[in-house]
Amino acid sequence: MKLEEFVANETVKYELSRAMQSDAFPHALIIDGARGTGKKTLAGIIAQFCVCLSDGEKPCGKCAGCLKAIHNSHPDIDITDGTKPGALSIEAVRKIRSDAFIKPNEAPKKAYLILDCDKMLPAAQNALLKILEEPPANVVFVITVSSANILLQTVRSRTRIYTLYPPLPEQCADYLQDKFPEKSFDELLSAAKLSDGNIGEVIRAFENGSEETMLLAQDMMDAVIRRKEYELLILTSRLSSSREFASAVLRDLLEISGECIRASVGIEGTSDIAVKAAEKLSPKKIYKISENIEKAANVLKSNVNLNFFGTWLCSLLMS
Ligand SMILES: [Zn+2]
Repeated sequence: MKLEEFVANETVKYELSRAMQSDAFPHALIIDGARGTGKKTLAGIIAQFCVCLSDGEKPCGKCAGCLKAIHNSHPDIDITDGTKPGALSIEAVRKIRSDAFIKPNEAPKKAYLILDCDKMLPAAQNALLKILEEPPANVVFVITVSSANILLQTVRSRTRIYTLYPPLPEQCADYLQDKFPEKSFDELLSAAKLSDGNIGEVIRAFENGSEETMLLAQDMMDAVIRRKEYELLILTSRLSSSREFASAVLRDLLEISGECIRASVGIEGTSDIAVKAAEKLSPKKIYKISENIEKAANVLKSNVNLNFFGTWLCSLLMS
C-alpha cells in the first residue's frame, strides 16, 4: 500500500510524506491511536519505504524491495508482535539492539517494527532507550501503542509521534467499497457506524461473517415477525456466549432489517424473511425494529452484562 492509499488521517500522511521526501527521515517513530485505526498498516508502509529501491517516489510498490516487504519476506524488516508472550522482554529488546548494529542486508535502511507496546515494562523501555539515544545509521524503529503516554517520557522525547484517528463512517465506507464491491454503500456505512470507524473490525466481521450468526439472526427476525416471545428469548440467550458473537449477530440482524425495510417499500429481490416481514408488519413497525437493533448494537459496545443483554434485547424487539 502507498501512503496516499492509507485511509483518512491527512495531517499524518502529509507530515510523513514530507519526511519521506527529505533526507532526514526520523530514526524512531511512535504511531499511536485506538484499536483499528491502522497503526500496523501504517507501520508496514513505513517499513516498505525503508526497503524500497526506487529512485522516485517511495514506497513504489513495484521494486524487489517493496515486493519482498509486501510478502513479509524482507530480511531487513524485523517485526516484533508485542502481544506474544516474552516479545517485549528486556532480553528481546537487547537482541533487537545488537541486531540493529548489523548493516542492512540489501535495503537502504533496516526497519524494526515493534508492534502493540502497551504492555512494555519500563525496564524494557529503558533497554530500548539506549539504542534510541544513539541509533545506528540507516535504521528506523517504528513503535505502535494505543497511546504514546503509556510509554516513558524519555522514550517519547527520542521519537517522532504520529497519532491516528478513526476515519469518519463515510470515509470508512468509501475505503471498504473497493474491498467489498458486492456490498451496498449503505450497508458498509452502517457497519462502519456500528464499529465507530474501526476498519479492521468491519473487515474481520465481513470476512468471518459466519453462517451461524446469519442463521441465528434470521431465526430471531422470524420469531419477531411471528410475535413468539419465548422462542425469541431462547434465541437471544445464545448471545451470551461472547461479545464478538453477539455483535456479529446484531450486524447480521441489522442487515436483515435493512432488507425488510426495502421489502416494505416494495423493492423486489429481497430475501424470503424480508418479504415475510413486509407482509406481516407495517413499514413503521419495521423501522422501529431496525432502530431498536441499532440501539442494541450501541448498548453492546458498552460494558453491558451479556447474560442480561439477551433478555433485554428480547423485550426490546417484542415492544
Ligand atoms: Zn519500491
